Amino acid sequence: MNQAKSLTMLLRKPVATSLAMLTAAALTASGLPAVAQEHGGGPPIIRDAEIEQLLREYSQPILKAAGLAQQNIRVVIINDPSFNAFVADGHRIFINSGALMQAKTPNEVIGVLAHESGHIAGGHIARMHEELAKASTESAVAMLLGIGAMVAGARSGGQGADAGMAALTMPQGVIQNTMLAYIRTQEEQADRAGVKFLTATGQSPKGMYDTFKRLGDEMLYQAQHIDPYLQTHPMPAERVAALEELVKNSPYWDKKDPPELQFRHDMMRAKLYGYMDREGISLNRYPPSDQSLPARYARAIAASRFSDTRTAVAQIDALIASNPQYPYFYELKGQTLLEAGKPAEAIAPLRRAAQLSPNPALIQVMLGQALVESNDPSHLNEAVTVLESSLAREPESPAGYNQLAMAYGRKGDYAHADLASAQAALARGDMKAARMLASRAKDRFPLGSPGWVRADDISNKNPEGTAHSTVVVHPKDPPQ
Ligand SMILES: [Zn+2]
Repeated sequence: MNQAKSLTMLLRKPVATSLAMLTAAALTASGLPAVAQEHGGGPPIIRDAEIEQLLREYSQPILKAAGLAQQNIRVVIINDPSFNAFVADGHRIFINSGALMQAKTPNEVIGVLAHESGHIAGGHIARMHEELAKASTESAVAMLLGIGAMVAGARSGGQGADAGMAALTMPQGVIQNTMLAYIRTQEEQADRAGVKFLTATGQSPKGMYDTFKRLGDEMLYQAQHIDPYLQTHPMPAERVAALEELVKNSPYWDKKDPPELQFRHDMMRAKLYGYMDREGISLNRYPPSDQSLPARYARAIAASRFSDTRTAVAQIDALIASNPQYPYFYELKGQTLLEAGKPAEAIAPLRRAAQLSPNPALIQVMLGQALVESNDPSHLNEAVTVLESSLAREPESPAGYNQLAMAYGRKGDYAHADLASAQAALARGDMKAARMLASRAKDRFPLGSPGWVRADDISNKNPEGTAHSTVVVHPKDPPQ
């Protein structure tokens, strides 16, 4: 099981009860193949209100142009410094934090998202399953093993790619070559669709082209000793040439991202570097002579990780004074105080962050935690309200349900506390605990009451509830 973690949780000392902005999302349920999961337990997911909101704004116009606006597709961030993005099902686009950190402009990320949307719009995942169904079980397994190893290889920075290629040489070469040709076609289709979506939304294809060209150049260098037949996606040089043909007539080639979006992009990168860099590195990347908001943001985040709380809070307060409407400065302040064991002081900034944020679900979990941990009974009703509000938007958040269970428990409402604990277990994928807690909740609720009905629903759940699907292969292009 992979825990989705907040940026802080990933990189800083674990905080007592705090599952702050995190939601545990099991990648098993989300469709990565077992092979990929074996690799170090699978990639951890980053949850962050600021970054997710920005990626929502990057992806929505594209998804709309792709005819996918109704499908509720989410962009999920994987904590991995390498460059990658891929689709694993029709509901999620995965993108590595490394891709976000390397992209200097919104347009580069949007280009990658456009390509991935092209895979979804083209039904490539479903068709991949059909192709696999036609292959014998053995060759399908070999195929997926190869793909899994390459996905893992791409994630770990490249060496594993060879292992993946080797696995592909195993049996049933003919079927595999058919498969590989098929994958090459898909990549070209996704490129074409991506450029179409960019044009339809009045955006430049330059970021997409530059990114793929850069990765293609890297791939060429690495591909020298690999049999070209066994490439799982088009020879990058050909693909880049085809893409060049496609993009050079775009009326939007020279169009730049709006400055406001570029600013938020810079803030996102500053945040990621602030959380990911080792001690002192942020100061090299964002030296004190750089007084821009992104540089000060990165330094304040680094201070919240490596300095004492007072120093960090002073830097964050200065950011708030510079831009009192930016929700995530308050979030950072609240999180810093909460993790410093000062939940009562964290409440006011987190309330403000939740008010200002367009989608506060993750911030509300943290606010709920601060309210519960403040040990003030007068805060418990507010805690229940904000947590219920968060869970209405993020119904699969174990962290949200855990905080809710604690809030109800402190109120002495053990029926609702058990129900919330059952929902937390359900969201974690722990069916056994979920059923046990739900039947205990049922005994506490009046027969037939709304709480009883919800508990009854959980206690009757089928243990084998989740559908599995397969990763689509993108070894190395950002489309991988
Ligand atoms: Zn692709």
